[in-house]
Amino acid sequence: MQRYFINNNQINNNIVTIIGDDVHHIKTVMRMRIGEKVYVCDELNTYICEIINITNTVELTILEEVNENSEMDLKVTVAHGLVRREKMEEVVRRLVELGCFSYIPVNMTRSVVKHKEINIDRLNKIIKEASEQSHRQKLMKISEVISFNELLKEINNYDIVLFAHTLYKDDVNLFNELKNKHSNILVIVGPEGGFDDKEVERLIKFNNLKPISLGKRILRTETAPLYIMSVLGFIGEQYEN
Ligand code: SAH
Repeated sequence: MQRYFINNNQINNNIVTIIGDDVHHIKTVMRMRIGEKVYVCDELNTYICEIINITNTVELTILEEVNENSEMDLKVTVAHGLVRREKMEEVVRRLVELGCFSYIPVNMTRSVVKHKEINIDRLNKIIKEASEQSHRQKLMKISEVISFNELLKEINNYDIVLFAHTLYKDDVNLFNELKNKHSNILVIVGPEGGFDDKEVERLIKFNNLKPISLGKRILRTETAPLYIMSVLGFIGEQYEN
């Protein structure tokens, strides 16, 4: 069944009003009719709704609330060296599917992309689409592009920071590190050209930072966040069972 994200204020007396691009999706792409059912999710609850009216908006009546839990307990934020637009869009789409909580694009010394090339509105549309497709209950957050200095200020807000660097051998046992299944984790991945030495020097001073290896091969900057997100997803599943 199709899924649409709404804001809580689109629900009034058991009636949901869908507006914007989703109306086009329901009417023209899906060619839905009155009486058809969809999931509607306001990031807190998910409802099964039935379409009762289609005009410039789509009105639905709430039939029942569904109990679902597709979000990870581990809260993973990926701070990613700024990469080219197409790559970023692909990474963002996949991170949504893999359950990532938040994505922070960071302007790093070796980032080749200009700040202005990044269109956050477009990325938010991709996030919404991918969240509907992958049946998430919460939209992944994405921040504006931040500087490396701003990233450093963020680091103490996390329980643990995993710093993926090609120079490191793995001496971190993630199963032991992530004992608390509700850990708030930050993962830092470099851009195409990797980290600059000064950046590494400044990062490794933080106590909560754990340098990690992602295996014996060098992964592309667009593969690395997906690799680590998959590993964290797997570890998270072990707790949940
Ligand atoms: N020439 C660069 C390669 C960068 S790959 C270098 O040697 O650093 C882009 C990013 O992906 C890296 O900055 C790192 O964060 C991550 N990465 C790729 N392969 C990795 C590996 N085997 N171990 C740890 N991090 C890796």
